[in-house]
Amino acid sequence: MITLRNLTKQFKGQAVLKGIDLDIQPGEVVAIIGPSGSGKTTLLRCMNLLEEPSGGHIRVGDYEIDADRPLGAQQGLIRKLRQHVGFVFQNFNLFPHRTALENVMEGPVVVKKEPREQAAAKGRSLLARVGLTGKEDSYPKRLSGGQQQRVAIARALAMEPDVILFDEPTSALDPELVGEVLATIRSLAEEKRTMVIVTHEMSFARDVANRAIFIDGGVIVEQGDAKTLFSNPKEARTRQFLNKFL
Ligand code: ADP
Repeated sequence: MITLRNLTKQFKGQAVLKGIDLDIQPGEVVAIIGPSGSGKTTLLRCMNLLEEPSGGHIRVGDYEIDADRPLGAQQGLIRKLRQHVGFVFQNFNLFPHRTALENVMEGPVVVKKEPREQAAAKGRSLLARVGLTGKEDSYPKRLSGGQQQRVAIARALAMEPDVILFDEPTSALDPELVGEVLATIRSLAEEKRTMVIVTHEMSFARDVANRAIFIDGGVIVEQGDAKTLFSNPKEARTRQFLNKFL
């Protein structure tokens, strides 16, 4: 579903991603873990070109971007790729002046030109899917952080994406609201959706992900079956990192 080859990213000459190779299969749930500043969010944002890679190749489904060539000439392809990739932000990024339902309908109506009636019916059922029946007409500021993040997940699902990328989806939440968002993501994993999740929730990553990837200093230090990586890390750097969570 996703292939990355020699993906690099520099910010003002500082190498943040140093040649990432990664293959993600359909139906896989992949957790990306690692210390703060190691490049996790940058890697995730490069996967749908929210961040412009400095070099390398990115393929998502049928769409392949060659970041060794100018990206300006590949904008059409980038737009298409993004239509197949959902992104859930740390800070929800809902439209503040639109209701929950309008937020969920926006992509299908504006990007996919779906009829409003159809988009509204789908939006209602997706809000029900994330446990928000009755909140259709609420504006984001009237919803809790956990509810807002579930609207954001419903909004991502409304585009019927091939893969959903989650960027620390619970780190902006009060502790008591983390569980409801993780439960929603867990239920999507049970449907065998392809998902990549940057997270600091180690027990969630261990239980829900099929594969865990440990990144440090812009390189993949270690990856493998999530339960094995957490219980029996091979690399000293991975062990050192995981020990902080014991
Ligand atoms: P993580 O998600 O693992 O905490 P990030 O991908 O956010 O790490 O950041 C990796 C490095 O890139 C950090 O040193 C960060 O300061 C730097 N960085 C991230 N975004 C930018 C940016 N827009 N401009 C300059 N430096 C950035």
